[in-house]
Formats: sequence, structure tokens, C-alpha cells
Amino acid sequence: MADNTNFIEEIINKDLESGAVSEIITRFPPEPNGYLHIGHAKSLCINFGMKEEYHGKCNLRYDDTNPSKEDVEFVNSIKEDIAWLGFEWDNELYASDYFDRMYECAVGLIKKGLAYVCDYSADEIRNTRGNLTTPGQNSPWRDRSVEENLRLFEEMKDGKYADGEKVLRAKIDMASPNMNMRDPVIYRILREKHHRTGDKWIIYPMYDFAHPLEDAFEGVTHSICTLEFEDHRPLYDWVKYNCGFGDFPKQIEFARLNMTRTIMSKRYLKKLVEEGKVDGWSDPRMPTLSGMRERGYPPEAIRNFCAAAGVSKSNSEVDVAMLEHFVRDYLNVNADRMMVVRNPIKLIVENADRDEVYDIENNPNAEVKTTHKVSFGRELFIDRDDFAPVPPPKYKRLVPGGTVRLKGSYIVEYVSHKCDDDGNVTEVVCRYIPDSIQGGVNCEMKVKGVIQWVNAKDCVDLTLHEFDYLLLDGDGDFNDRLTPDSHTVYPSAKGEAALREVKPYDRFQFMRMGYFSAVRDYGKDGKYEFNMITGLKDRYGK
Ligand code: ATP
Ligand code: MG
Repeated sequence: MADNTNFIEEIINKDLESGAVSEIITRFPPEPNGYLHIGHAKSLCINFGMKEEYHGKCNLRYDDTNPSKEDVEFVNSIKEDIAWLGFEWDNELYASDYFDRMYECAVGLIKKGLAYVCDYSADEIRNTRGNLTTPGQNSPWRDRSVEENLRLFEEMKDGKYADGEKVLRAKIDMASPNMNMRDPVIYRILREKHHRTGDKWIIYPMYDFAHPLEDAFEGVTHSICTLEFEDHRPLYDWVKYNCGFGDFPKQIEFARLNMTRTIMSKRYLKKLVEEGKVDGWSDPRMPTLSGMRERGYPPEAIRNFCAAAGVSKSNSEVDVAMLEHFVRDYLNVNADRMMVVRNPIKLIVENADRDEVYDIENNPNAEVKTTHKVSFGRELFIDRDDFAPVPPPKYKRLVPGGTVRLKGSYIVEYVSHKCDDDGNVTEVVCRYIPDSIQGGVNCEMKVKGVIQWVNAKDCVDLTLHEFDYLLLDGDGDFNDRLTPDSHTVYPSAKGEAALREVKPYDRFQFMRMGYFSAVRDYGKDGKYEFNMITGLKDRYGK
């Protein structure tokens, strides 16, 4: 146990042992400007993981201090996705609820001579910041009196100035080796309707000022974020101390999750949605949690994957095969096996003179063994790929003159077949071998292979959706790496009768094909469609 302690737990353990904190409080702080993706799942697993491990608390806090990109649709989807993953937040909070308190903190900084109103434009601020080798230049407005700053800041709030005309800056050090400490802007004027506060505010706090305050107001002890904020930590601490807080909250950074063949940038995901390259944020090909839900990924598998990916201080890229490995690992034990044919052709069993019904085992790997009924008769369907009039080398299915076992049923031997004018096989005729069912006297007969089948009499017409990764392998601009045709539809598949009864999001292994999930409106208005979750072959660790 102790050897598996990650660096975040080490910090927390020390803080508990020293008595610096008595209860661990974390938060998950999404900006409601898009849907959550698999990277967010990692952050969720860490923040809620700490809550669970230390019997503490974890808040869901919407970081909604930037009004221009935020939306209620995103607020709702975020909640739905976190609940789906199986996490429970202690409080649902909004950074925008703290706008009054943040304003007071800014006034407090002005009174201490630690913030000033600056008339520079965004360009002028950028041009006077200096760079890594040259210090910045002090703003000509840096030494305004406290009284003047208080008056101007209030006027900013009251709408006396145009957007961008003035900003409030922290007065720190224009020569600091850390660029973030060179008098950063902490408030700006922005006339934009906010999804919660409406038109009440026309000045909004900047992230680096707002975030430590949000954490501090809530009594968060450990503010866990991604590595790109490491350079912002001195500013985080500056705000925290100068606004009257102590050593906590403490910011801790970890490496974000990156995954091969996957886009993790909300900005780019949004672009895919807006340009219609995918069917919305919940398209099964999207790396969003809602996309993965539609695709049929079990939330347990996502959590297992995040746990295995671990917590680290250095950036790396995880193979998407690892995520799929955990999906398969879960489904192997939890998904019932069913028979489906993707591209059906008729198989006539000419000596079958009556229907039979078998109990087929649902899942050989399940802890509790169950069965379901499958019917056999004279007219069946098999997959076009499972009969070859002229077999290629090493072909192990039905061929002229050959035999094959029908999964869970008889061995059948070829009799004849018919083709259409183009030479496509339309029908195969065979005979079943009596007593060749498991346990029968002929059941040990050698056959080339085992194939799945369905009974034409009671099978259900299915549409299957199969997917490729959104991105091609490699690096470079996402725009040049979009996989062409990443969605394939099989509109005339046929499934065994039991599939008529399943519920939306039920997951199965279709034998010899892969794992599939019933779509969200399965069974409604005759819609019998499945999304492919993942194939059967595991390339992880190979
Ligand atoms: P994006 O750059 O995709 O917009 P973000 O970091 O701006 O992502 P937020 O909604 O602000 O997204 O993030 C909420 C939380 O999730 C933050 O604490 C953030 O650090 C974390 N997070 C976002 N992406 C990842 C990732 N790929 N791996 C781990 N954590 C992430
Ligand atoms: Mg962000």
C-alpha cells in the first residue's frame, strides 16, 4: 500500500500528520464552455479519489468567470457526466456567486497599495512586459494614489469606461523572472451577458486572481491542477496571502492526460461540432464522456483506466489501446454473448424438419452463469464472409465439400450454393449431422471452424454502427489528421431473437465480431441499432 503512494498523497499525508489540516477538501473546477472529455475524467478521478480516500469533501465548482464562452447546456452536461462516472460532489458551486467577494478582495488590494488601475491597452501591456531576458517597464499609472485607484476601479464597475479602456493590475514586480508576476491584469471590463449573473457585472476577474480566491472561500485544502499552472503558483500564493489567507489552499500540479489518436482540446472538439464533422458533442467517436457513454464504454472501465494511468509530474502520451484494454477487460466479464451476422446470406438446412430451442450460456467468464434461448430451424442466416465458394489459403469456415460447426448447435456439411448474375452467393444449402450437438455421439467430429448464425424465422433486423479513431496516427495539425470515413454503417445485419428485448445502453459481445452497445433510443419506433464499443483483439502491451 505505502509503496503505491503517489506524490499528491505524499503531500496530503504530510499536511495531515503535521496537523496543518484536519479534513481534506478538493474541488473539480470545469469551465462550462464545452463537454467533459477523457482528460477531465483523470482530474475527476484524482479529486474525487482524494475525497474518498481521506473521507473528505470534493466540490463541483463551475469556473464561470469568463462570460463569453459559457452556456447552460454545458453546465448540465458536466453534471450528467460526473454522475455517470459514479462520483458524488458535496456542493455544487459557481465562481460567479463570489463576484461580490472577489470585488471586495480587489478593493482590499488597492487599499494596501497592491493593485492599480492601468490605462494601457492589451497591446501596450504586452509590449511593455519584457521577455525572459529583459525586464518589463513600469506602467506610467503604477503610482496612482490609493484614492484615485479606488475611484477609478469603482467607475470601471459602474460602466464609465469602454471595454478594454482600463484594467486593474496587481502591483508586484515588472522585473520578476516569472512573467506571470509582472503586474498581471486581475480585472477587465467586458460588456457581455453572463449565463448566471446576466448584466449585473461589466467587470470580470481574471483566472489567476479568481481561482485562488474561489479555493480559499470554499476552504479547499489542496487545489489540484495540471502542470501548465506550475508557473502560476507564485501568483496563486501571492493572491492568497495578500487577500488574507494562510498556507492553504495549496496548489499541486500533475501531468495532464494525453492519448494517441485523440484530441483533448475543448477548442478543437468544439470546432468539430460546429463544422459538422461529427454528430454533436456526444457522437460515439468523440473522446467526450458523453460520446463514450453513447459508444458503450462502461464508466467502471474509464475509472480503472485512470487509476492504472497513474499520477505523474511529467507529460507523456498514453496509448489509446490501454483505454480499450480496460474496456474489454470489464466487458469480458460483464457482457453477455449474442449471435449477430453483419452481412447475411441464407443458409438452408435441408434435412431440418422441425424447430429446436437451445439454452445458450450467456457468458463463460461471468461469476454467476446464466443462459438464454436460441431457436434453430430450416432457414438460417450466416455471414457472407463465413462461406467461400473458392476459399483463400487457411480459410477456416464453410467451403464447398466442407463442414463447419454452427455455434451452440449442429455441425453442418455443404450441399450446394446459388449465385446471382454477378456471381455473388445468394444462398447456401447444407445438411446437419445428427447427434453432433455438444454431448451427442458425433460431437467430436473434426470441423474447420465455428461460425455464428441466426434463425430467419425469429431474428431481428439490426443496423450496426462501427467506428474508427477520429484522428490518424502521427503528430501535426489536427485538421490534417482527421480520419476519412470514420463511421461505417451496416444497415442489414440480423441478430438473434433475444436482442429484440434489450434496453438502451445494454452491452454485448457479438460473437467473433466485437463488443456492441444498444443505442440510446433502442427499440423505439422499430429502431434496433447498436454502436460498436471496441473489437475483440487487444493490442495493448503487445
Ligand atoms: P481544455 O484545454 O480542453 O479547455 P481546460 O483545462 O481548460 O481544458 P477545464 O474545464 O478548465 O478544462 O478543466 C477542468 C479541470 O480538468 C481542470 O482542473 C483541468 O486542469 C482538468 N483537465 C483538463 N484537461 C485535462 C487533461 N487532459 N488531463 C487531466 N486533467 C485535465
Ligand atoms: Mg480552460
